[in-house]
Order: sequence, then C-alpha cells, then structure tokens
Amino acid sequence: MGWSKVLVAENPLHAGLAKIALEAADLSVQLRQMDLWAVAVEVLYSEGAAPSVWVPDEQAEQARLILKQHQEKLQSDSTETEFDWHCSNCNEHNGSSFKSCWQCGESAPAEQPDC
Ligand SMILES: [Zn+2]
Repeated sequence: MGWSKVLVAENPLHAGLAKIALEAADLSVQLRQMDLWAVAVEVLYSEGAAPSVWVPDEQAEQARLILKQHQEKLQSDSTETEFDWHCSNCNEHNGSSFKSCWQCGESAPAEQPDC
C-alpha cells in the first residue's frame, strides 16, 4: 500500500493537530521526520526538517479536503479575535468595541460563535 504526503507542517504542534483531525475521520495517519525536527537544529527551518503528514494513497483526496477545512479554521481563529465581526451590509471589518458598523451604521450580528 502506498502512502501520500498530504501536509508539510509548520511545526510539530501543527502536525499533531492535523493528525488528530484526520484520525477523527477514521483515516490512517503517519507522521514523519518528527525526530529529525528534534535533533537537527541547524536545518530546523528548511522544508526537509519539517514534520510531514502521510495517509494511504486512497485516502489522500479525503485527507486534503479535511486539512483544507482545518487550515481555514485555524487561520480564521488566528487572524481575528472572536469578538470582531463583519458588517452584513457593507462587509466592513469592525472591532469588538463597535456595536454597530462604524462605516454604515448597520447593527452588529446578534449570534456569537459557538465555544
Ligand atoms: Zn457597514
């Protein structure tokens, strides 16, 4: 059975989170080069030292889809605070202190993200 690399992680934590996400979908997951990350400090920032996530060939397409969704979630979590919001009228980005859009006056959405 062949294996496909579906992700080169930025760091071991990233790789671990990806593994958890894939295993939650009943995929078989291998992490590779984790040891290299730990011992090869001088090549820490080269792609060769980054931990990578592998799945069986037949699961690669599903894995990439899961990781794409996972990545989008991580990015949305990190680039904005949970209290920032986008105006439904003009799409302006508003900070948590604004109860209505500073640009057009539209009220902030009432629903809060799930915890
Ligand atoms: Zn607005």
